[in-house]
Amino acid sequence: MNTATTIDSLRINGERLWDSLMQLAQIGATPKGGVCRLTLTDLDKQGRDLVIGWAIDAGMRITIDQIGNGFMRRAGRNNALPPIMTGSHIDTQPTGGKFDGNYGVLAGIEVVRTLNDHGIETEAPIEVAFWTNEEGSRFVPVMMGSGVFAKAFTLAHAYAATDTEGKTVKDELARIGYIGEQEPGDHPIGAYFETHIEQGPVLEDNDTTIGVVQGVLGIRWFDCTVTGMEAHAGPTPMALRKDALQVATPLMQDVVAAARRHPPHGRGTVGMVQVFPNSRNVIPGRVKFSIDLRNSTDELVDEMADEVKALAARLSAESGLGIQIEQVSSYPAQVFHPDCVDAVARAAHKLGYSNMPVVSGAGHDAVYMANLAPSGMIFIPCKDGISHNEIEDAKPEHLTAGCNVLLHAMLERAGVVG
Ligand SMILES: [Zn+2]
Repeated sequence: MNTATTIDSLRINGERLWDSLMQLAQIGATPKGGVCRLTLTDLDKQGRDLVIGWAIDAGMRITIDQIGNGFMRRAGRNNALPPIMTGSHIDTQPTGGKFDGNYGVLAGIEVVRTLNDHGIETEAPIEVAFWTNEEGSRFVPVMMGSGVFAKAFTLAHAYAATDTEGKTVKDELARIGYIGEQEPGDHPIGAYFETHIEQGPVLEDNDTTIGVVQGVLGIRWFDCTVTGMEAHAGPTPMALRKDALQVATPLMQDVVAAARRHPPHGRGTVGMVQVFPNSRNVIPGRVKFSIDLRNSTDELVDEMADEVKALAARLSAESGLGIQIEQVSSYPAQVFHPDCVDAVARAAHKLGYSNMPVVSGAGHDAVYMANLAPSGMIFIPCKDGISHNEIEDAKPEHLTAGCNVLLHAMLERAGVVG
């Protein structure tokens, strides 16, 4: 079992992975074929219990931490080494699908089952994690379990979060029996991989099986206000107007143009516009609009923002109207570790799957893990790019392919004994 050829020919059992996904999807199944399994409900407990039962059957050791994150560990030869970890979440949106999150956890279990089938021992231990409340639909913030684990916010802050009925995270965790002993984060990680459906249309559009995720887009949000002067639409000649909307529109268009000037990952959106006084026969005196800029690095997002601000300064000087741009939020870009990104790409090449570099426009638990250990993600296509919807769908062959890539990327990092 030790030759490189034998390891290279190793494949997961796609049918078993599919069966497990379908079995877990029964818990909280909706009539439309989706899943509603909100975090820390009785159904979440049933889901957790089922997954842990499978892990125990696969010979894994279970640890639960104080925020209810679950760690399922397969011993390695050298258990002093930090584990090579994979994971995701098994909570869903109220109108969620079968694959978002669940796939990442069950792909990890399938990797372990495959190693067991073939009697393969790894140098470092392998761990599969499920993170509490990734979705954030019952309790905010989103990515709660991994966020507490990575110390992005405190356990006390997470415990105090309440749902619409006033129930707290702490009480609900205790009620379903998932407050563990381990302090969150008191748990070394050697490397972290997460498999996930893409939740976007790029892979399907490119007819590609594996997305080698380079990172998660950074985001800057601004509010922009252009201030002119209201006046009657009839008596005021064109040369004497201070029309805020006419100054705002080229700036709005430049938000989109700035994204086009920074391909391939630039995104620019003006999603909200308010015109004052918003009256047919009044020259707009004030326009307020939102700016959403995203790109794969913080530097690129900053460049886009600088370009928009430079145009604002020029338009203001030309028109004599005041333009204010105020930043309201900022989320840093997360670039995944080159070693993990390369391990995913190498595995996809080796296995003969079509693959391409992609970025994630959505947040994932891996974003927090990337602050703690080299991390990477594997995307597979989902039908029409749709998720957070009961019609979310993924093909068995894609689910199998992503899991095979996970297996080989994890083996590369964990090292095979022999
Ligand atoms: Zn997810």
